[in-house]
Amino acid sequence: MKNKSIFASKLSELKEQKVYRILPIMNSPIGAKVNLDGKEVINLCSNNYLGFANHKVLKNAAKDAIDKYGVGPGSVRTIIGNISLHEELDKLLAIFKREEAAISFQSGFNCNAGAIQAIVESGDLIISDELNHASIIDGARLSRADKKIYRHADMDHLEEQLKQNRDKYKQILVITDGVFSMDGDIAPLPEIVELTKKYDAMIYVDDAHGSGVLGENGRGTVDHFHLHGQIDFCIGTLSKAIGVIGGYVASSKEVVDWLNHRARTILFSTSMTPPSVAACIAAIKLLMTNKEYTEKLWRNAKYFQKGVKSLGFDIGKTQTPITPLMIGDEAKANRFSKTLLEKGLFASPIVFPTVPKGLARIRCMISAEHEMENLDKAISILDKAGKEQGVI
Ligand code: PMP
Repeated sequence: MKNKSIFASKLSELKEQKVYRILPIMNSPIGAKVNLDGKEVINLCSNNYLGFANHKVLKNAAKDAIDKYGVGPGSVRTIIGNISLHEELDKLLAIFKREEAAISFQSGFNCNAGAIQAIVESGDLIISDELNHASIIDGARLSRADKKIYRHADMDHLEEQLKQNRDKYKQILVITDGVFSMDGDIAPLPEIVELTKKYDAMIYVDDAHGSGVLGENGRGTVDHFHLHGQIDFCIGTLSKAIGVIGGYVASSKEVVDWLNHRARTILFSTSMTPPSVAACIAAIKLLMTNKEYTEKLWRNAKYFQKGVKSLGFDIGKTQTPITPLMIGDEAKANRFSKTLLEKGLFASPIVFPTVPKGLARIRCMISAEHEMENLDKAISILDKAGKEQGVI
């Protein structure tokens, strides 16, 4: 077969560049500790911010939904895959996000892939933060709008782009992550809102890492800044803090209606499965009625960040539980992560091209599921390994 030789040579290139990956195999639910390749280790890698991925209430909701609706929706939403659970989830998301309406997608990636190309068209312009997530970049590519990039969170550069281009385009859409996943910093939303008002542009905020983390009961970055009603498109995922899978746009009734007619991932991809939708509903209800999950997440994050800083680690500019340990050199970061794993701590290295060359880091993801003893052990492993390898 021809494909064998083509891809064998591409794979050898990856091996030569030392970026070939062997995926670790998980043998347990996602939790504070996981069984990875047969070994129990502390998990500082997942986006399971609130510990919902293996939560009893969510699991029971999923089991009940399987009994009632089966495991698959059997069709895209626009044919017969619009189960009453999807309607319930969308209504609940609108209430949770304090927006008029919401529409859920099969994943956060699918949401950006479907929504952006439905929102802008030829003759429009997308202006995107340079550190926006890959799904935004791909979503923008799928649209027929022109694209410009502004330097990360640089409001002068964004204004320059808006000023230069306002008269050349029908609509301008400014896109930003709410919380940036590799550094943990929060987008300057109030300033972006001011600029979009001044230049009559629309604003699209992908709050994958802010939802469930920031704002009242985890309502997200828009709530954190009290900007409800001022963001045109509020995007979130159901796969991180919510612990399941899926993505959504919360916006006006008109936008949701339009996406139902034009978002290609709604029209051409089967809807979320019944157990997933039911688990998401249970998660959001839990989040809206309990502050304990977000409070514990933040307590844990502050404790861990204080601990690693006192050891001499540089945690960059994080403002959230995402805790990068800045290393710099790619090989050093990979080596450090390997040593951590040998000592019982799984924290993944983030290297080029995910982050710029020379800015490699170990990204530690803190969760409400961690207990003090997990965090203390993690800090002590980081201390030992850091000194051994000359990282601190
Ligand atoms: N947007 C952002 C900002 C993300 O960080 C991610 C996940 N890495 C996604 C979208 C994609 O979400 P999902 O994993 O639900 O497809």
